Amino acid sequence: MQEVCPLTTETDSLIAERRESIVTSGKHKTSISCTSDSLAGSVSQRACVFCGARVVLNPVTDAVHLVHGPIGCASYTYDIRGSLSSGTETYRKSFSTDMKERDVIFGGEKKLAACIDELVEKYNPPAIFVYSTCVVGMIGDDIVAVCREASQAYDIDVIPVESSGFISGNKVVGYRAAGEALYKLITPKDGEFVDKTRKLNFLGEYNLGGEKWVVERYLKEMGIEINVAMTGDATVEALKKSSGSFLNLVQCTGSMHWLANRMEEDFSIPYIDINFFGADNTAESLRKIAEFYDDPEITARTEALINREIAAVREVNEKYRKKLAGKRAAIYVGGAFKAFAIIRQLQDLGMEIVLTGTQTGKKEEYERMGRLLSEGTVIIDDANPAEIEKFLIEKKVDVMAGGVKERFLAYKLGVGFIDHNHDRKDGLIGFEGAVRFIREVHATTCSPVWKYLREERGGTE
Ligand code: SF4
Repeated sequence: MQEVCPLTTETDSLIAERRESIVTSGKHKTSISCTSDSLAGSVSQRACVFCGARVVLNPVTDAVHLVHGPIGCASYTYDIRGSLSSGTETYRKSFSTDMKERDVIFGGEKKLAACIDELVEKYNPPAIFVYSTCVVGMIGDDIVAVCREASQAYDIDVIPVESSGFISGNKVVGYRAAGEALYKLITPKDGEFVDKTRKLNFLGEYNLGGEKWVVERYLKEMGIEINVAMTGDATVEALKKSSGSFLNLVQCTGSMHWLANRMEEDFSIPYIDINFFGADNTAESLRKIAEFYDDPEITARTEALINREIAAVREVNEKYRKKLAGKRAAIYVGGAFKAFAIIRQLQDLGMEIVLTGTQTGKKEEYERMGRLLSEGTVIIDDANPAEIEKFLIEKKVDVMAGGVKERFLAYKLGVGFIDHNHDRKDGLIGFEGAVRFIREVHATTCSPVWKYLREERGGTE
């Protein structure tokens, strides 16, 4: 359903080798090039393996997160991807072995072991995640051995996270490293036994703006409890009980499908993909969960909740649809599951999606995306700022949904912007999140400031 985006003119500012990564939805079936390494010289937002691992694991609130490497790597910390805790806040501290030239030359294992000793003494954590970074991978520090020794010495989980940044220029590889670390943590050790429960685990939910708590409230009303979210507002103790759960919900599929599959194979916990972004997605997800439990009381409570909540969202949607219908929107987000939800929400508001893309989408996800979009929509994998700028101007975009790196690009071009990234502080999940999203889209798209800005720049209208 897609054709290669024609890049024809001599003056075209796009890099020729990126041609296969930019398609338009349409009649001719052509695959998009994705999941390959970013092109050198094309500014990618895929970050690094360590970053991917860190964002997945960091919300474990009572664990110590120790970055073994130079201090610069430790800038990927709580502040890069916040997530809220209902209790302990150890995870908000940033720990690094702060490797210096001497450690790079003579090795950093002793320094790492000393840091672990100090952290145990000061914080007495139930678990420590030790992240390896580029330098550590290159000099060959054996972090597995250091962690094993520390685990035995202190009788806590000291878990190596194999996340040297250079392994791949894609944070998705770090998601897998984080999944493996979590799997080590949650697998019962010899002699340990985890009770079976009717509770569920909520995978791929990071509680950035309290979203886990919103879903927790809905599920409670339905008569279902969350065992643990992975990893939003999670504690080590709760994670260790996750292997006894009845069901796994998977929201962020990119970061959690590997772990969900392992848990299905090894602990016989089935999983279902859900998506709580947008009112219709929320309703469908709650129904999917209720169906899985197959309990008439749960079903009845679920339907009552959906009927009550969705009516309120529809009212707001209709009100703002009148103002937003026909406006042109662009989307550029990390993963495809979020893109699908935003496409649906903007289309419900009568808006036209003219550009969409992700940092880490897979081929089948882009094919699905193509089916959701009208003909001629530009679809980009691993976009660089020059490409986004080009299409924001060419497609006369009114509003963009993206992350912090797109925000200023949009503003400079006089385009409204809605932050749908991991550093936002307001939850966009569930029915109340859907209402907040609609209001934010309206406020930014219809702000009078863009008119003045465009006039000032000579006008792109
Ligand atoms: S790419 Fe390497 S050096 Fe840079 S932040 Fe990632 S791990 Fe650290």
